[in-house]
Amino acid sequence: MIHTIMLKFLFPIVVLTLVFGIIVWQSKDPMSGAPPYGVTDRDEIPQEQYRFEWLKNWKRPEGPARVGIQVGHYKHQEAPEELKKLRSNSGASAGSVNEVDINYKIAALVRDILVSQGIQVDLLPTTVPPNYLADVFISIHADGSDDETKSGYKFASPWRDFTGDAELLLQSIEPEYASATGIPKDPVITRNMRGYYAFSWWRFEHAIHPMTTAIIAELGFVSNFSDRRFLTNNPDIAAAALATGIVNYLDDKKLL
Ligand SMILES: [Zn+2]
Repeated sequence: MIHTIMLKFLFPIVVLTLVFGIIVWQSKDPMSGAPPYGVTDRDEIPQEQYRFEWLKNWKRPEGPARVGIQVGHYKHQEAPEELKKLRSNSGASAGSVNEVDINYKIAALVRDILVSQGIQVDLLPTTVPPNYLADVFISIHADGSDDETKSGYKFASPWRDFTGDAELLLQSIEPEYASATGIPKDPVITRNMRGYYAFSWWRFEHAIHPMTTAIIAELGFVSNFSDRRFLTNNPDIAAAALATGIVNYLDDKKLL
């Protein structure tokens, strides 16, 4: 009798507990490199897809193409309470060059090119306006490393891209940047890039709208002599390449 009860009730409970345990264990992938700007704890999107049903019927508001260019680390001290960890993050610096100055210079040049083509542009600081909606959001950064031999650019799209277009945006920009600058590609995309705080709209008020197509750029290593020299001496070349990529994307999406 006791044996039958065990089989009927205890056995399924034990099996379910084991299966659940394995699922939880499997989903705990290790974190790498907390700073400089990724969210540092587990930031999975809520899995209940029904919560996002409204996105299926979402329609882009009428109006000209709009692009948000974020200057990485710019006005980092003004980050809101929910992002207060960013207040102390002034970005990389090396050889008396600050990343934020490179970011600003190049972002402003990209803005000028896009504005001259009739595109609306917002130059954004560390703090993104709540639920920021645009056709393109690009966050401009340059990398830093203790290893001065480390060189290379990289572009990354968000972990969760509800627009379905982030990869196209990335593919529109990256080849332009690679060929114009000659900076090699650094294949190591960090969790911090794909989990960038400004992409995490389900978590932060000051983040992009879920239908804003976004990427983050690391234009090269400030800590590497060759990358740093290129970015400080040729910001116009880097900016022109980024702008061309963005325009190509907007053109593909019939937004120009
Ligand atoms: Zn940065």
